[in-house]
Amino acid sequence: MEPVEYQRGQKRETRRIHVGPVPIGGGAPIAVQSMTNTDTRDVESTVRQVQELYDAGCEIVRLAIPDQEAAEAFGEIKSRVKPPLIADIHFDHRLAIAALNKGADGLRINPGNIGGPKAVEKIIRVAAPMETPIRIGVNAGSLPKKILEKYKHPTPEAMVESALEYIRLFEDLGFKEIKISLKSSNVMHTVSAYEQLSREADYPLHLGVTEAGTLISGTVKNAIGIGILLFKGIGDTFRVSLCSDPVEEVKVAYEILRALGLRHRGPEFISCPTCGRCEIDLFDVVTEVEKALSHIKASPRVAIMGCVVNGPGEAREADIGIAGGRGHGLLFKKGKPAGKVPEREMAKVLIEEVKKLVE
Ligand code: SF4
Repeated sequence: MEPVEYQRGQKRETRRIHVGPVPIGGGAPIAVQSMTNTDTRDVESTVRQVQELYDAGCEIVRLAIPDQEAAEAFGEIKSRVKPPLIADIHFDHRLAIAALNKGADGLRINPGNIGGPKAVEKIIRVAAPMETPIRIGVNAGSLPKKILEKYKHPTPEAMVESALEYIRLFEDLGFKEIKISLKSSNVMHTVSAYEQLSREADYPLHLGVTEAGTLISGTVKNAIGIGILLFKGIGDTFRVSLCSDPVEEVKVAYEILRALGLRHRGPEFISCPTCGRCEIDLFDVVTEVEKALSHIKASPRVAIMGCVVNGPGEAREADIGIAGGRGHGLLFKKGKPAGKVPEREMAKVLIEEVKKLVE
């Protein structure tokens, strides 16, 4: 199909930083991040989850470092996994320094709870010679008291003012390897805050809607908040936050990027919602095919349609497609009819045909 040109916002120009080998900002592809939910002190479980995230396409993985034991474990985990790791630190700047010394590829701190400007300075003194970037993570739930008193509520303006104060602190210390996040569980507050900050500073922005909720509600909130911003050209990397398996976060992230035409990873499935005209067990076929092809990085269009109303049209536009009929499906390869397939063999044939196409 011919690409369609939309009135997409001009990509905002930002400075380039690197998290390990992954470039962020400065025209680099939008990078996908996630965060482990294992206990970082449990090295085996955390290594396993980092690997699962990496296999799903996660390019940067963040780990919580709540104490010195976790900082020690971080070093071992780092030596055993492929993706760059970011250490997420609250309250204790010594943990940030420990993580840096254990090879962290980046830090995420909230300067408001790390112990004041002196603590930030101590972290920067270690991070600067290593050229290790730091994310300034502003969160609507933990804004400085004086800013909350001024704005009464954690408004987008309050979040931006807090971010600008922290940026000045880092700049005064001569450190510019930073990216910024402004997270709120309110989607439109998040959008407004990032829009405002993008006009004020050219540091790369890490997008996210925090505490977004469960798989369904969280996916919708993230897709709308992050989707609006990326469509406007704002944002250089992001994490989808879900109260679910973090691998789901990565899958949702790539679906957001795909829907916006920004990046493609894995097959694109076009399947109908089914209705009273459907004459095959479409849900089972789609589930089986999607599961069997989940490891594929290439992104062919695979249409699986329930009947002959819209089925042949969609199947013809896909790389591989099938339109269901009574007890069988009509197979299409690259737009051309390729014979009838019995219903019980539909999933197997689709999987084989897609593999032949991409492997
Ligand atoms: S393709 Fe057929 S079965 Fe699927 S929703 Fe449309 S009319 Fe219903």
